[in-house]
Amino acid sequence: MPDVASPKRCGTLIWTSLSPWLVRRSSSSIACSHVVPGLNNMHLLLTVDRSPHPNEAEHRLRSVEMFWITAMAILWGAGTGLLIPRAAYRLSVPPQEPWRTACPAGHPLGGTATGWLGRARCTEGDRFGPSTAAVALLMTVICAVLAASTGARPELLVWLPLAPIAVLLAAVDVAVHRLPDVVVLPLAASAIAGLGAAALLPGADGSWRTALLGSLTLGACNLVVFLINPRGLGFGDVKLALVLGAVLGWYGWTIVLAGTFAGYLFGAVYGIGLILAGRAERTSRIPFGPFLLAGTLAGVLLGSHAP
Ligand SMILES: [Zn+2]
Repeated sequence: MPDVASPKRCGTLIWTSLSPWLVRRSSSSIACSHVVPGLNNMHLLLTVDRSPHPNEAEHRLRSVEMFWITAMAILWGAGTGLLIPRAAYRLSVPPQEPWRTACPAGHPLGGTATGWLGRARCTEGDRFGPSTAAVALLMTVICAVLAASTGARPELLVWLPLAPIAVLLAAVDVAVHRLPDVVVLPLAASAIAGLGAAALLPGADGSWRTALLGSLTLGACNLVVFLINPRGLGFGDVKLALVLGAVLGWYGWTIVLAGTFAGYLFGAVYGIGLILAGRAERTSRIPFGPFLLAGTLAGVLLGSHAP
């Protein structure tokens, strides 16, 4: 008996070894030229016919959908990013001081929405606040990864509006070590309300219940940390935790833990880095909001990818 596989077995082998590839490539047929002794070395053409993969059209549709969602998110990120520096500059004042109404040279900031909306330029052309290019680039990247990670799910319509407000808060915290209530509290309310609405829509991939509980729990935990060591964490960070807990809680308790841990880790690494570089001392205060927000972004990316 010659040690040659039968045509049937060849077909089975090829099918078994290639089927994972076929699922991806979806070619309609494969051919196998096979020499069978005893049949005058006749070449038998073995064809495994398969109909087009039923998921192919769906897969293609999803790719097109993802392209447009990511493109719209990038436009949204870049567009809102251009508006952040002016608002950040105006909000960057010590507590009990009114919001800035003039550029550093004293020219009044008029314009759309009583001077809150617009580029970071006064009527005389002076620039102020954080770099518009840097903020717009950061916003573009954040919105692109949020869209790519979340996909066509209703919660993306909550993450995208929250992103520019979060970056605005981070910019103000960096400038004056402060997270203004006028931004944080409405942000917490809109995160919880937005997720409540998203949970009602088809395709939602999270839980409003754990979002609400996450908000309360993280707020309470940070309040305890604040009461124990008010110098380590600002009260603004406690209020910010209401937002972060809601966002992370959408993806469940594991993500609440992971995102919070990531935020503290980022802050600690930065703080230790500053001390090692001789640019800060153990007692120096660093703005913690940006790190907590970055940790929350990491949690969202992790949670939206989790099975
Ligand atoms: Zn000016």
